[in-house]
Order: sequence, then structure tokens, then C-alpha cells
Amino acid sequence: MPSIAWNCDQCKKYTLIVVTAGQDILCPHCQKRWAQISDLSTVFDQCPICQCRQFYLQKDFNQGAGCLVMLIGILLVPKTYGLSLPFFALLDWLFYRKVPAMVVCYRCGAEFKGFEIPSHLKPFLHHIGMKYDKYR
Ligand SMILES: [Zn+2]
Ligand SMILES: [Zn+2]
Repeated sequence: MPSIAWNCDQCKKYTLIVVTAGQDILCPHCQKRWAQISDLSTVFDQCPICQCRQFYLQKDFNQGAGCLVMLIGILLVPKTYGLSLPFFALLDWLFYRKVPAMVVCYRCGAEFKGFEIPSHLKPFLHHIGMKYDKYR
């Protein structure tokens, strides 16, 4: 199910809702009405929370788990004559690819999970992120 998570401006709470087409985006804590989603495929034309038009892709991924996999690979180097490194790098990569991606709004940081991700979306770009730093 597609869901959107964001920090509600009005009540300052982290809010997560499951969305369907035609549904109002309402804060479940303070009932503030943010937007209406008429069509799920157009969500990434404009952020329903802040009207920003730029988004980035992020893996919904526990960075610590990836580091741990690599650490084990490094620890096994003396025993495997270095063969563990490419093997664990491959494991890490396979694991990473399996993790579903989410889309994040540059401006308000809203997280969109379970949506169909448009192919033009790219991972976080620092120079774009800088532009929006003042809104965070
Ligand atoms: Zn609220
Ligand atoms: Zn936004």
C-alpha cells in the first residue's frame, strides 16, 4: 500500500498515512487538511505536502547492516586470502538491490513508500539538497 510520512507543520508530529487515489491527505493528529491526491501516478509532479517539484530516491535500507556485511568480509580476508572481499561486496550489492526504494521530497522531507517510482528520479544530489537546506 502506498503511504506518505511527513512532519506535520501544524502539530509538529511525525505523521504516516496510507493513501489511495481520491483521498484527502489529513493529519491524523490535528486534522489539518494538506491536500487531496486525485491520481497516485501524479504525486511526484508536485509534493502534496509542500508543492515542491523535486524529489530524490532513497533506499529504505539499514546502513548498519550493510557495513556489518562488509566488516565480516574484511575480517575474513586473512583466512580466505582476500577472496572474501569481492564475495561480500557482491552480497552487499545483492542485499542492497532487494531493498525497496522510497521517494523523498527535497523540501519538506516527506517520505513516499510503496508508490510506483518514476524512472527519472535520481538519488540525492547534494547541490539540489543545498537549495532546500533553509526549509529543513
Ligand atoms: Zn498535524
Ligand atoms: Zn514536500
